[in-house]
Amino acid sequence: MTYPNVELFIDGKWRPAASGKTIPVINPATEEPIGTVAHAAKSDLDEALASAEKGFKAWRNISSYERSKVMRKAADLIRERADKIATLMTMEQGKVLAEARIETLSAADTIEWFAEEGRRTYGRMIPARLPGVYQMVIKEPVGVVAAFTPWNFPINQVVKKLAAAIAAGCSIIVKAPEETPASPAELIRAFADAGVPAGVVNLVYGVPSEISEYLIPHPTIRKISFTGSTKVGKDLAAMAGKHMKRVTMELGGHAPVIVFDDADVESAAKIMSAAKYRNAGQVCISPTRFLVQEGVYDNFIKQFVDNAKAITVGNGLDASSKMGSLANDRRVTAIESMIQDAVGQGAKVATGGNRVGNKGYFFEPTVVTGVSKSARAMNEEPFGPLALISPFAKFEDAAEEANRLPFGLASYAFTKSAKTATAIGAAVEAGMMSINSFALALPETPFGGMKDSGYGAEGGTEGIDAYLSTKFITQTGV
Ligand code: NAD
Repeated sequence: MTYPNVELFIDGKWRPAASGKTIPVINPATEEPIGTVAHAAKSDLDEALASAEKGFKAWRNISSYERSKVMRKAADLIRERADKIATLMTMEQGKVLAEARIETLSAADTIEWFAEEGRRTYGRMIPARLPGVYQMVIKEPVGVVAAFTPWNFPINQVVKKLAAAIAAGCSIIVKAPEETPASPAELIRAFADAGVPAGVVNLVYGVPSEISEYLIPHPTIRKISFTGSTKVGKDLAAMAGKHMKRVTMELGGHAPVIVFDDADVESAAKIMSAAKYRNAGQVCISPTRFLVQEGVYDNFIKQFVDNAKAITVGNGLDASSKMGSLANDRRVTAIESMIQDAVGQGAKVATGGNRVGNKGYFFEPTVVTGVSKSARAMNEEPFGPLALISPFAKFEDAAEEANRLPFGLASYAFTKSAKTATAIGAAVEAGMMSINSFALALPETPFGGMKDSGYGAEGGTEGIDAYLSTKFITQTGV
């Protein structure tokens, strides 16, 4: 399949940047340029802002019933086009085709979920103190949204914001990832082809900091949603705060996995190794700090390492590959240096630890044991195929280590005891916990963090609230 030259989508039209500027897109499995992406300047952003303002005025007055019909059509188009879209995603991002297909198809599910939620943005009546007085709480779309999304899930990170925003009646400017632009553009195309009016959905690419610094303070923008690193998230949240803009922040994690002595070790190792190496570990909810109780420590390491060794690494387009390349060379360098640092502090590499081949950003599924708490990998999000396994003695030790870091996104626990499951669910400071499974990030369940992992939830009934304002009207009969 030929990879396209990706354009901007503004006011219902696909077009190049006004300056004609483009930047190359690299296939991370081959390191070859495969296409280009248009690079917006301020004049393009001004047009996108005017377009989104116009789109909001039109879209907010279309009933949620009609909006949901258009959204359902977009979901159908995505399902019809899933093979093509998934192939583009693998070419630009490196993940295996099977994962790209799941991501694409689950975007259709997310759109349908929000299409329905949009029809349930109920307010309420509050009983008044006096007769003839009606106290009403109503929900209104917050306005024009600016969304900034990363390259690890090129479609999924956009659709959680886009579908919720437009279901609520907002319009949106999406700044999608420049490194993986074609698959998110296909998501936008499905909405355009489904009949979303011009201006409701807009898509730009360019220099991320220039775009966020221009859009966030702009009076047209009423809501910011960002997914990415904690550092950038804090900067953008500070900027948004200065201009009193509402924000949703989905930031980094460093998920603890607590395996108790009474767990089904084989099942835990199988579920967690599949989760760890999905998308080559470039996942904010990726299981990372494995805390394993002493009685099952050696057995868990053996099982987990066996699973890791069985993963075939290769070009995501090959059906035999179970893990593709990393998405960019920055991740390879980061993982290499984290392993080197951990080993320098006494850790042992149980499997992996090296690049694969000398073309493409491939890296072995890696397991490191006995890692010092001061090692960088134990404190910074690795965002790569690196599992860190350490033993613990008592429940309290595991809970303390799980809560040691400022992150609080996903967490996992494995136990056969209902009492332990309840206790660990209560003890861990995280926005999400999955017990005896890897079952997070469904359209109908809330997804979000606490502490440095951000605030606000995407998905679930909470997902649409982020795009609604509450208005109170009290009406007295005359
Ligand atoms: P980065 O932190 O510069 O970029 C992360 C994302 O934020 C990218 O999509 C980028 O385009 C965007 N971004 C960066 N600066 C921005 C700005 N000023 N305004 C708007 N958007 C901006 O670096 P990176 O190398 O791409 O990733 C580094 C780390 O970020 C990873 O190691 C990981 O910890 C984290 N990350 C998290 C997620 C997630 O799903 N939460 C996704 C991607 C990256």
